[in-house]
Amino acid sequence: EGTVRLRVLVARLGTRFVLLLAEDRTEAHRLDEVRRDFVANISHELKTPISSVSLLAEALDSAADEPEQVRRFAGRLSVEASRLAHITSEVIELSRLQARDALRPDVIVPIDEVVAAAVDQNRVVAAAKQVAIAVRASTKAEVYGDRALLVVAVHNLVSNAIAYSNEGGRVGVGAKVVGDTVEIAITDQGVGIEGDDLERIFERFYRVDQARSRNTGGSGLGLSIVKHTVQNHGGDVRAWSRPGRGSTFMIRLPLAEVLQVPTSEQPGST
Ligand code: ADP
Repeated sequence: EGTVRLRVLVARLGTRFVLLLAEDRTEAHRLDEVRRDFVANISHELKTPISSVSLLAEALDSAADEPEQVRRFAGRLSVEASRLAHITSEVIELSRLQARDALRPDVIVPIDEVVAAAVDQNRVVAAAKQVAIAVRASTKAEVYGDRALLVVAVHNLVSNAIAYSNEGGRVGVGAKVVGDTVEIAITDQGVGIEGDDLERIFERFYRVDQARSRNTGGSGLGLSIVKHTVQNHGGDVRAWSRPGRGSTFMIRLPLAEVLQVPTSEQPGST
């Protein structure tokens, strides 16, 4: 009987040991994934300012004998350079957060400032494509959260709206209070998204039409960054689209406090 007991004990310890090893490997695997995300996110987030910089460098080159133009483009180059520095730190912060479950900072973030910053970051690229951005976000709404991360989220949606617009298109960005939430909507009149794809675009690395998407230089990470950030802030993000007609992406975030503001203004409804 003693031998049987001993065998059972050895078997139990063996199982426990295997489980410990397995747990260890799961943790190592998770850390590996986090590290891969880190690299992938950085390259994605840097693409917009880098294309702004090369567009401005081209403009600078062809304006060589017009000092006034040269000064203007040089100024914008330096703005883009500091943006590069900013985004780098934002993405580092984001990848750090990806290892966490939830974000609960007690910092008040005004939504109109988030929208303004995100739109400003996209002006150079929009202008190069002659896409007009109409902003209607004079809301007093405030949320709790991380300002830099929220700017990245809205930035990604505006950047996509421009990237998937046709030349000379129009992008609408609006924010309004609805109940105890604020809704930030980004609408474009671009290529649109088919129903099957619409269900999958928020997945990491998912891109609709490889050939078409490649032209925009994206990596399929932008929307998963948006989703992750918004969920960490207790909100959600949804998309509607009519293929060939355009798309609307809407971020909904809980207000820091319920505001006594009428909800009449409709964003981008012109
Ligand atoms: P990326 O734009 O880098 O490819 P995203 O995660 O931002 O990655 O988007 C995933 C895919 O969703 C894109 O490749 C594109 O096919 C589609 N998509 C995103 N935004 C839009 C939009 N506004 N209009 C049309 N398609 C879009």
